[in-house]
Amino acid sequence: MEEIYTKTYAKNLDSQDELRAFRNEFYLENECVYMDGNSLGLMSKRAEQSVYDLLASWKEYAIDGWTEGNQPWYYLSESLGEKMAGLVGAEKEEVVVTGSTTVNLHQLVSTFYKPEGSRTKILADSLNFPSDIYALKAQLKIKGYDDSHLIQVQSEDGHMLDEEAIIHAMTEEVALIVLPSVLYRSGQILDMEKLTKAAHERGIKIGFDLCHSIGAIPHQLHDWNVDFAFWCTYKHLNGGPGSVAALYVNEKHFGVSPGLAGWFSSNKEKQFDMEHTLTSAEDAGAFQIGTPHVLSAAPLIGALDLFHEAGIERIRRKSLQLTAYMMDLIEHELKDFNFIICNPINDNRRGGHIYLEHSEAARICKALKMKKVIPDFRKPSGIRLAPVALYNSFEDVYDCVQILKNIMQEKIYEQFSNEREVVS
Ligand SMILES: *Cc1c(COP(=O)(O)O)cnc(C)c1O
Repeated sequence: MEEIYTKTYAKNLDSQDELRAFRNEFYLENECVYMDGNSLGLMSKRAEQSVYDLLASWKEYAIDGWTEGNQPWYYLSESLGEKMAGLVGAEKEEVVVTGSTTVNLHQLVSTFYKPEGSRTKILADSLNFPSDIYALKAQLKIKGYDDSHLIQVQSEDGHMLDEEAIIHAMTEEVALIVLPSVLYRSGQILDMEKLTKAAHERGIKIGFDLCHSIGAIPHQLHDWNVDFAFWCTYKHLNGGPGSVAALYVNEKHFGVSPGLAGWFSSNKEKQFDMEHTLTSAEDAGAFQIGTPHVLSAAPLIGALDLFHEAGIERIRRKSLQLTAYMMDLIEHELKDFNFIICNPINDNRRGGHIYLEHSEAARICKALKMKKVIPDFRKPSGIRLAPVALYNSFEDVYDCVQILKNIMQEKIYEQFSNEREVVS
């Protein structure tokens, strides 16, 4: 029975892992246990190759690269959107790769937030990533409202949100709802289908930030009838630092004019007519603004191939196994050291990472880094550990917990100050 807590057991799990071959597709720094794929995914050989190919197309075609070569730049945002659509359960025309998470949120709120009569407020939550909240407040300000128009549903325990409380807050004053799919700290999955249904029954539009779910869990945005969504591509999708983000708009909204228009919002046939009246694209492409960041989109060409080959269902299955195994090891090996597991335990509520709290978290993270385990720290006392299905092994999880145990037993963390770094 105790054999589950041995390295042999971990290796055995690896030998049965149907996705194990994908690890070789990535650059894993020697002897380092990377547990930070939920902040910045690792570089894959495919992503690297697609950047080189893109550079070659610039070298070879110059201006004609917009329409020539294997990946004509003019259509790249749409073709990558099509390639990503399966990951969110969307029709191919409903997704486009463009902008950044925060810019896309601005775009979608300025398109879908239409305060009218007594319906003037935006409903969000109190645990979301700050950028989303800053953007929502800025959008309210543009429309002449102050922060009191932003309703932030509170959390009972500081980690989880209760869908019933969110639904309760969907009052007749609410014009728009923006929520995360997976909370960036606790990793809780919100029930997007249920929330969307409740919002629509009350005549409210709803959108989701998928930054922490894209590439980690499957979605059915179209079938759930979600109005819009947006996400980054540098976390679980492994697009590289600053890779271009994406957005989804349900086809029922095709034809609505983009809140932030630009010439890349155009119907592609009409764009070069250079008219001063915009004819928008008839699909999610309408929510682009200007010239695409082609070099920052290039890694996605290769990175997304890996998702197609592995399949999001298999990725999710392994991810759940990895995090369940990690929780089991933490409970067994670290029980004397006051860690609190703050992510949901239940499989259908747990996203792709483990979230621990400990009063010495900042310095424990520094000690982990010294020992070549890469976690991330979330102020004031959170440690996120993301064993990623495409490149982490069960042995990585085993090593991570053993190293953490050693750091606690030997009090190695005491060598460091308990403060965060500039980027953590
Ligand atoms: C990572 C993340 C962002 C980052 O936004 P950028 O515009 O890409 O900097 C925003 N929201 C959430 C929930 C995130 O997890």
